[in-house]
Order: sequence, then structure tokens, then C-alpha cells
Amino acid sequence: MARIKDESVDAVKAAASIVDLVETRTRLRKVGARYTGLCPFHEEKTPSFSVSPDRGTYHCFGCGVGGDSISFVRETEGLDFVGAIEWLASRFGVQIEYEETSPHYDARRRRRERLFALLEQAAAFYERTLWESSGAGAVRDYVESRGLGEDVCREFRLGLSPAGATLTRKATEKGYTRDELLEAGLVTRRGSDYFQHRLMFPVTDIRGRVIAFQARKLHEQDPLRGKYVNSPESELFRKSNVLYGLHLARSAIVKQDRAVVVEGNTDVIALRQAGLHPVVASMGTALTERQVKELAKLTTRVYLCFDADAAGEDATLRAMELAVRAGVEVRVVALPMGKDPADDPAGLEPRLIDAEPYAVHRVRLELERARDRQHAYLQVQDVLNGLPESPERYEAWRLANDRLGITVELRAAASGTATAGRALSPRLVDAGEKLERRALAGVRAHPELGPLLAELTPEHFHFEGHRAL
Ligand code: ZN
Repeated sequence: MARIKDESVDAVKAAASIVDLVETRTRLRKVGARYTGLCPFHEEKTPSFSVSPDRGTYHCFGCGVGGDSISFVRETEGLDFVGAIEWLASRFGVQIEYEETSPHYDARRRRRERLFALLEQAAAFYERTLWESSGAGAVRDYVESRGLGEDVCREFRLGLSPAGATLTRKATEKGYTRDELLEAGLVTRRGSDYFQHRLMFPVTDIRGRVIAFQARKLHEQDPLRGKYVNSPESELFRKSNVLYGLHLARSAIVKQDRAVVVEGNTDVIALRQAGLHPVVASMGTALTERQVKELAKLTTRVYLCFDADAAGEDATLRAMELAVRAGVEVRVVALPMGKDPADDPAGLEPRLIDAEPYAVHRVRLELERARDRQHAYLQVQDVLNGLPESPERYEAWRLANDRLGITVELRAAASGTATAGRALSPRLVDAGEKLERRALAGVRAHPELGPLLAELTPEHFHFEGHRAL
């Protein structure tokens, strides 16, 4: 780990203006020697957030947060101490020095810095190509036809990669080596640009530094086959660790205590344009455990808006289950077949309210997929036993009982002991159904029992058919 010299830390502290920092997150009003405003860390209507420029500190009388410029940046940007110092140094123009470390470590840090600089310049080049080149008119029209305005596209730094080896040539002229271009995933082994004539979505780390690209196909004669292609994995870019748009969504996720995960980059952009900010995209279809852990640091509520296939993938289910066990409330928004959130960005908010809890989603899937009732029973029992007790688990359990027509015996969470044998015989599963059927048949055969039946409600029966009767 890099250690920043104490003098550099002091220089950064002295240069950082707490008022400037806070004002990027909330509007402040000067009151005497202090400034006050609405707290950027919790929702409120009357200002209880106070900033003291003399002391370089902030404090919220509502939620109790407080600290200095370093803690503010750590909180709002999601950085560790070193990261926060580096962030502040670049924001306030302070040159920082590091303690002597091993030559190997220094070389590695310099190499990473050059890769970041190269990727940053590539992103800027693609942006210029999209917005300034005369030949890019059709692509700009395409973006507009997808309903994405220029402002939001610029916020996400969309770009266009030209054909040939223009980027490779320019980067080489600036002194970057072939190895660096390869490591950054910008050049092919043959020496031409890796991405050619594609719509470019820069992928960033949580600090907003470009670490890779996702590129959308625009032409049929594209040497890369996929509709969307990511940069090759590299020292900086591990697809499974990244959530697209997190650097822009982060503060909204914290403040609103919810994160919406969608599949596509354009969904993130369209939703942000429509005013829904706490939105990120998984980089492939499946959600990974790393991505979930990243979100769990920021919020206790995650909404997954995937299409039915993706929401049922094993990897995604595992990641969701992990989140639920970690205490995150996970809900799944069922999207109509072939519909993306981007198709109706304003319509997503009501769907979030109706979103299905993970436990219910999972139980429904197990019931649909099971070979037979016995299998379904065991699968559902297994899933429910793996989840902590909660109203959502109860709701899922009720659904399972209803569909299976028998009470699913669960392990008591506290004692951890089974209240029923794991392998329930099919005969037992069927017993409940038979009992209900016989009771109904008995009433039919002996009309004098009718008034007794009238005292029962449909809820007394597990089976749909019996309830109807
Ligand atoms: Zn507060």
C-alpha cells in the first residue's frame, strides 16, 4: 500500500476547502461564520447540516455525521484514506509525495498511472470523434433516436471509435508503447485499433477513472462479433468487479438507501436522464457476488431489473441469496419480455414499488422448474431454510404452501434443528390433498353437513381447486 508523506497530507488538508466540497453536494447559505444547508447524507426538508470553514469541519444535527474534508470525500466518493488524499490533491492542485517504497512497487504504481492516463486520453479522443467529427452525424442521430440527450451522453462520456488505427497512431506519437496499448485493451495484436466504428461507453472505477470500455456495434462489417463487446480483462479491469455507472450513482444510492441494478448501460443512462439516479448496470448478464458486496457497502435495499432469463440465472440467484443473507433487502422487478427499462424510464418507479422480494421470486422459480411435486417441495424447503427469517420469507413460504397444497416444514432459525425430516415421502405430500378432497366429498354425500362447511373460508384449503369449490 502506498504511503503518502505526512507533509503531503498536511498540504492537502490546508488546500482543501470544505465549503467548496460540500457545495458540490448541497446548497449552502452563510450564517455568521458558518454555512448551513440540507444534509447530503440524509433526506430532510429543513437544514440541519452545518459547515465551519475556519475549522474545516462539517456536522449534521439530524443524522449525526461529522468530520473534515478527508472524511467528507471518503464518505461521498467511497474512498479509503489514501484514495481520499489523492482525490483531494487532484481536486485542489496539490502535488503529493509518497514514502520510499520498493522499486518494484514504484514501478508498478507508475505503470498503472500511465495506463489510467492512456485510457483517459482514449476516452477523450472517442468523445471528440463523436461530437466533433463531421462523419459522426449518423451516429449522433442514432443516439438521439434512442432518446438519449446530449447532456446525459456527455455526463457518461459516450464516444465513437473511428475505423483503422487512428487511436493507436496518436497514442504512439504521445510515447505510449505497444505493450501499454495492449494492456489497456486498445490495440489488436496486428496493430489496428481494438474497437473500430463502435459507440463507446467508458467504464470507470468508483472514482470515475476510465478503466475499460464497453462498445456497441454500429456496422455489420465489424471484426468484433458481439453486439456489445467489453475491453479485454486487464490489471485495471475485472469485469465481475465493476458496476457500470457507480461513480455517478453512488451518492444517490447512499442518500436514497436503494440501488437499482439493470442489465444495460443505456438503461442506466436513460433512467438517469429520467431523474432516477441510484442506478447501475452489471457488466454482463449475471450479477456477481463482488458486485453485490460493493452495493451492500452503500445500501440495504437492492432492486434487480433483469429480464426473466437473466433474473433466473444461477449466478445471479447465488449473488442475490448472498446479499439477502448479508441483510440486504433484495427485490426483483419482472420486466415484460423483450422490454428494457430504457423503453419506458418513467414507468420504472411504480414497478419498483411492486417488486417481488427475492424469497418469493426464488420460490416461484423453484416451483416452476421442479420435475415433480416431491422435488419442488425439497427445493423450496432448501431455499427457505437458507434464508433468514423475515416477512419476505414468510410470504414466500405461504406461496409455496399454497402451490404445493401442504405446509412446508422449515427449520426453526433460532435452534437450527429440523422440525421435519428432510426427505418427505410423496405419500405424505399427497395426504393433505386427499384429506381436503375427502372432506369436500363427505359434505357432498351428506348434505346435512353443509352448514358446517359454510363456516369455513377458502383459506382453510391449500388447493386452488378445493378453494373454488
Ligand atoms: Zn444528516
